[in-house]
Amino acid sequence: MHATAQRSSGIASTLFPALLAWVLGNALQLQQAQLQSWPVYCAVVLLSPVLYALAITQSAASGWRVAGVFLALLALGWGVAGLRASVFLTDALNPALEGQDLRITGVVSGLPQRSETGLRFRLQVESAQRGEQTIDVPQVMDVGWYAGAYSISLAPASAAPADGFDRSSGLSRQPGDLKAGERWQMTLRLKAPHGGRNPHGFDYELWLWEQGVQATGYVRAGAKDAAPVPLGQTWTHPVALARQTVRDQIFATVEQRQAASLIAALLVGDQNAIERTDWDLFRATGVAHLVSISGLHITMFAWGAALWVGWLWRRSGYLCLLWPAPSAALLGGVLLATAYSVFSGWGVPAQRTCLMLATVAVLRLCGARWPWPHVWMLACAAVVAMDPWSLLQPGFWLSFVAVGILFATDSGAMYSMDMRAKTIYSKILGGLREQWVITVALTPLTLLLFGQVSLVGLAANVLAIPWVTLVVTPLAMLGAVLPVLWDGAALAIGWLLIYLQWLATWPWAAINVAIPPLWAGAAGVMGGVLLVAPLPWSLRGLGLPLLLPVLLWQAPVPPPGQFELLVADIGQGNAVLVRTARHALLYDAGPRYSLESDAGNRVLVPLLQALHVRLDTVVISHRDMDHVGGAAAVLAMQPQAQLLSSIEAGHPLQAVHAAQRCSAGQRWNWDGVEFSFLHPQTTDYDKGARPNALSCVLRISNGARTALLVGDIEKAQEAQLVASGAALKADVLLVPHHGSKTSSSAEFLEAVAPRLAVVQAGYRNRFGHPAPSVLERYRERHIVVIDSPHCGALTWRSWQADMPLAGACERRQGQRYWHHPVP
Ligand SMILES: [Zn+2]
Repeated sequence: MHATAQRSSGIASTLFPALLAWVLGNALQLQQAQLQSWPVYCAVVLLSPVLYALAITQSAASGWRVAGVFLALLALGWGVAGLRASVFLTDALNPALEGQDLRITGVVSGLPQRSETGLRFRLQVESAQRGEQTIDVPQVMDVGWYAGAYSISLAPASAAPADGFDRSSGLSRQPGDLKAGERWQMTLRLKAPHGGRNPHGFDYELWLWEQGVQATGYVRAGAKDAAPVPLGQTWTHPVALARQTVRDQIFATVEQRQAASLIAALLVGDQNAIERTDWDLFRATGVAHLVSISGLHITMFAWGAALWVGWLWRRSGYLCLLWPAPSAALLGGVLLATAYSVFSGWGVPAQRTCLMLATVAVLRLCGARWPWPHVWMLACAAVVAMDPWSLLQPGFWLSFVAVGILFATDSGAMYSMDMRAKTIYSKILGGLREQWVITVALTPLTLLLFGQVSLVGLAANVLAIPWVTLVVTPLAMLGAVLPVLWDGAALAIGWLLIYLQWLATWPWAAINVAIPPLWAGAAGVMGGVLLVAPLPWSLRGLGLPLLLPVLLWQAPVPPPGQFELLVADIGQGNAVLVRTARHALLYDAGPRYSLESDAGNRVLVPLLQALHVRLDTVVISHRDMDHVGGAAAVLAMQPQAQLLSSIEAGHPLQAVHAAQRCSAGQRWNWDGVEFSFLHPQTTDYDKGARPNALSCVLRISNGARTALLVGDIEKAQEAQLVASGAALKADVLLVPHHGSKTSSSAEFLEAVAPRLAVVQAGYRNRFGHPAPSVLERYRERHIVVIDSPHCGALTWRSWQADMPLAGACERRQGQRYWHHPVP
């Protein structure tokens, strides 16, 4: 008897450290730049039970026992995550197969997404052939089937762009009528997952890794290619097929497209049709989580479902005798939330939230009376066991902290089982209070993760969450049975939009701060938790000073007299942020990827927000789409910036923001740094030169160090510049025309004589930039060349120009094993 009690108290004392160690072991493994070889992970995994047994049986002192168990679980977590990654990587795409025509048979495994430019879908591969030879390719891939020559990336709406995609030839066939679960044979060209890497930017490669996608590709459907062949419907993906049917029904039934797209987003988890302006509205008012089936949304849905199930259960005395209503409500809530998650696409965020909820529910239903930190930690450990990489996702932390706050403040009806004597009204009031608590406590975390907080978010969420969870979503669901109810859902959405639009007109609707370092964010989260914790006010007050670092954090800027270049990773195009002590200039705004997305809204606007940069000037070197693509988005966010460009008077961008011509001789001084244009001459404009020939050439110098940004000038302009006797000598050169054969002539390179040359080009871009012959010219002159596919974003500082470049590349600095090792 005594021994049993002692053993169980021993387990209790080691449970929390053991769970924590498991999570930390996984987290440590995620820090690896390269994977160890798999026998290392195997050995560590095999060692951990030995360590555990030793700790439990040998050490009498509880401190040592805890330490031993901690180490054992730390090793186990590290080893298991490493083994999983090693196994997964064996399925990676062989680089030799990139860009080859492959005949692939597979089943469409998700909901195909149709847009103006074509079709995107996920393919579960069954077999692959190159010519007559059977080959191994990754099992899961994201595939595009494009209707025309229009440029589009494969990245989803929420993702940063994959860069310029080779779709050079033969797009004569229109995309077929693809259905989820159908087996197809088609000719594909593949490449490894590759996304832009920018400071504080979205990690597209991690996003694909987490979903098991190890290749992206597009359908070769030209006249000369073997036609894609449908091989019939399979029943391997019934849910996806049902979702597709319901989605088509929604768009056929609901006349108003805006409402239809929102019903589709809420019911089948397809956010594809939501317009960009609607997304902007949701982000500005802080309710985007509602339409993107986030963990928070699922949690709130479970809470609402538990409320309904409990209410219905209590109508029947018989049922209540059979099983207590709170237990039924809890189980019903979790089951309904899981069913909803499955139907809405079973995305990774939904999976981890359901696992978290199920863990909590099982503990409660088993009658375990664990302290809340133990429950919380167990839920975290369960999610990490399913998906270690979720530790790197903002969404995981938002829902995890939200669930934790519900425990800590014990205000969650869902979790505290405090559902007995209350009326439904008091529960709704309780729900509003929870929302308030979560919003206050999550604010610092949101600032840390996104650098943006919506001040009207509270006002928006307090009504929007219950409205969407308790009214719109149930109506949308019931509409699948009785389509007339979708009209009701559309009406409810209409009212919500009116409310949100009104809120968005408030001044200071959203505030942006520079993304703070981790320590400041962590202190802020603790401050937020303290403020809402059920503690005496004197203790709660301590939360305020903890909030200060995150609120007052200023992003570092160059010292006076110095300047910094941030060569962004935007794929095939140019975009360079130039900063001095108190001013900032953006040279070019990157490419456009599709009708809805460009380097402006995907990369540059988030980057400028994260660094808290206010632009004084935007230079658009010339009118080509890979330079002007993101300009409208950037200028909409930074209307105060003056626009200097060689674009013509009738260019559409002039309607967004009037441009002044750039021409040789214009110069200005910011904080001791001299900016001057060397090209084009005013006479070049009159000659009607081609766009590339009119590229604004910008020289930036502080006397000691010089940078030269040259857009897409070609040999003739290079010769003109050399002949003009302009001060061309520079330390760093943005390689003209992305390394095209038309540019980088020998005499120009000799005149500039840079130590560093930077190529901004997309991975496997269709132009073959940079050209090998051009690279050879740089190599002959011992000029170091860095390109964006290998480097990601590059940071160059005039006051650290002699430092080694390794730390300056985003791709090398933040290298992790899931990132694409660019050949
Ligand atoms: Zn260009």
